[in-house]
Amino acid sequence: MSKIKNCETVKVVVRCRPLNRKEEATGYESILDLDVKLGQVALRNPKQPSADLLKTFTFDAVYDGSSKQSDLYDETVRPLIDSVLLGFNGTIFAYGQTGTGKTYTMQGLWMDPEKRGVIPNSFEHIFTHISRSQNQQYLVRASYLEIYQEEIRDLLCKEHRKLELKENPESGVYIKDLSSFVTKNVKEIEHVMNVGNQTRSIGATNMNEHSSRSHAIFVITVECSETGLDGENHIRVGKLNLVDLAGSERQSKTGVRGERLKEATKINLSLSALGNVISALVDGKSTHIPYRDSKLTRLLQDSLGGNAKTIMVATLGPASYNYEETLTTLRYANRAK
Ligand code: ADP
Ligand code: MG
Repeated sequence: MSKIKNCETVKVVVRCRPLNRKEEATGYESILDLDVKLGQVALRNPKQPSADLLKTFTFDAVYDGSSKQSDLYDETVRPLIDSVLLGFNGTIFAYGQTGTGKTYTMQGLWMDPEKRGVIPNSFEHIFTHISRSQNQQYLVRASYLEIYQEEIRDLLCKEHRKLELKENPESGVYIKDLSSFVTKNVKEIEHVMNVGNQTRSIGATNMNEHSSRSHAIFVITVECSETGLDGENHIRVGKLNLVDLAGSERQSKTGVRGERLKEATKINLSLSALGNVISALVDGKSTHIPYRDSKLTRLLQDSLGGNAKTIMVATLGPASYNYEETLTTLRYANRAK
């Protein structure tokens, strides 16, 4: 019973990108077999190619290399955005090894309408809904932050201050002094996103490295007010968190010491805390959900579990040299199921 209920609140899907040109040119083969109809992924160990050693996992949906951005959006994401528009909270995570398509899935290529990811598609969806509504008034606000080494940084603010997580009995956990901007249309919210993306890359000597070590969280708050049949004004607020997580690859490779090791431990901390929270939610039997174990899970506490909906998109690379990391990602995602 609880399993059915939880399937609705937490969805775990897998997306595998195609082999890229370099991988093809090098002659790497795909070690992943995706059964889109059954939602199954089979992983072959390149060192033990025997068929009975395939590892098979089942998810709420799987998307192979030929899947389109709109497939993922329409089948998996759209219902969550609809529920945010109704006043519920929701969170979408992209989880996976660096280079497997987290940013492609969340942002995509903005210039190409077919390749726009979850974030621009949800902007479009939200404002289309608003423009069609007749008796409601909407207020949409956007914030953009990142968590790097368990420190919170506002991406919409020039000053590089560290922000604090606070808690109050009424509004729950919140970030003190986090800026938020009212946006009236797609253009305005895209602008907010672009400003944040630029801030993110400034100060990062290597953007790729920085983005692989930090969690980027775009937050949209949709407030709707409507006069009810009782003549009173009713307000409902839904919050949407769009999260491009740090790369899941093992950071603590041998030889890493000092600052780098400390950083590695912190990155893994947030990701493992998130895994624990989601698996406790899915399990449905846990009385204690360990939100407090990391900044990421504390911050998202009101949008994970309860009435909130969660989608985890685990991204994979198909090539044989990624076997270990791919297996780790599948296990993590499977645990979240
Ligand atoms: P990550 O954010 O996980 O590090 P990226 O999103 O930057 O990975 O993707 C790495 C590269 O692979 C990029 O060049 C991206 O355009 C490409 N890519 C990722 N996923 C897909 C996909 N589903 N289809 C086509 N290209 C993809
Ligand atoms: Mg990325």
